[in-house]
Amino acid sequence: MPKDLQKITIAIDGHSSCGKSTVAKDLAQAFGLTYIDTGAMYRAVTLYAIEQGLYGPNGLLVTELEKALPHIQIVLRKDKESGQVETWLNQELVEDRIRSLEVSTKVSEVSALAFVRKRMVELQQEMGKNGGVVLDGRDIGTVVFPQADLKLFMTASPEIRAQRRYDEMRAKGEKVSFEAVLENVKSRDHIDSTRAESPLRKADDALVLDNSRLDRQAQLAWVMKQLKDRSWAV
Ligand code: C5P
Repeated sequence: MPKDLQKITIAIDGHSSCGKSTVAKDLAQAFGLTYIDTGAMYRAVTLYAIEQGLYGPNGLLVTELEKALPHIQIVLRKDKESGQVETWLNQELVEDRIRSLEVSTKVSEVSALAFVRKRMVELQQEMGKNGGVVLDGRDIGTVVFPQADLKLFMTASPEIRAQRRYDEMRAKGEKVSFEAVLENVKSRDHIDSTRAESPLRKADDALVLDNSRLDRQAQLAWVMKQLKDRSWAV
């Protein structure tokens, strides 16, 4: 008998800006799953640190951030009109602000902190405990949901990823250079893959999806086939 997709947990990990959220959103839309953008949660913590002045002359004030953590409330909420999942930080809509280059530049340092990860992982596990979810991030298949039903590890060349992110940011009116975006993509990959706490790595049982040469339809079709091959009712 085909397996019920309303119970599925799909984990999508991979490098920065390789289209994880596009695949996750397409799957959520196609099957009525809840999309959990875990990167948005780390971005929200980073935005909080910036806006609350938790940066001193020598960088992030780690102890201050740890003290503030219980006061950081993050909610991912689906907007009724657009159908998009949006990030709320302490009752304020921050979806656009968390995507700025400033947040992107600082987020990997924040997300490398063990106390931040512990809290975010707890929240993500709570949000996904009933299944019917697709999560994207860096440690979903390895740490957050190691028993996920389908694990994908996505990648693409740094230049292609930077170009996509650059186009996205320019379209939103952000004045950035391609070189700065490429540098950010490479530096986040490096920090995310080499950190001590839950580094980015492919789970042994994850399927690799290199979408350097795949468009949106082709990559969705590829994932659908993987689900079908595993007897999910697509
Ligand atoms: O997915 P996104 O690029 O928005 O994630 C922003 C940053 O958050 C990543 O570069 C990484 O440092 C961190 N992150 C993480 N673990 C996750 C999701 C994101 O460390 N599960």
